[in-house]
Amino acid sequence: MKIFTKSELYAIWKNICPPKAKLFAWMAIQSCIASKSVLVSRGILNNNIDLCPLCNLEGETSNHLPLLCQYAWQTWTAIIQWWKLVWVSPPSLMAFVSMLEP
Ligand SMILES: [Zn+2]
Repeated sequence: MKIFTKSELYAIWKNICPPKAKLFAWMAIQSCIASKSVLVSRGILNNNIDLCPLCNLEGETSNHLPLLCQYAWQTWTAIIQWWKLVWVSPPSLMAFVSMLEP
């Protein structure tokens, strides 16, 4: 289990996002959302159906679905361009949270 720094916890919980978004981020960072990869690892789904339902290219994991999937990336890119920012895609949700540290 990952031990979070105070600034990582601050980045997750002390922001303007609605509580359900914060909870989802918290669970996703700990790989606790019911993604297909988690359901396969628990024996709930067969391991031949763990592909992402959006792209059908990679497994649906806590990092892939909200961040690394090409469709998620298109959404992030649109938001980043709307805010007139430039960023480098983080390799994981934890790296993303580290980018948000105050
Ligand atoms: Zn995908």
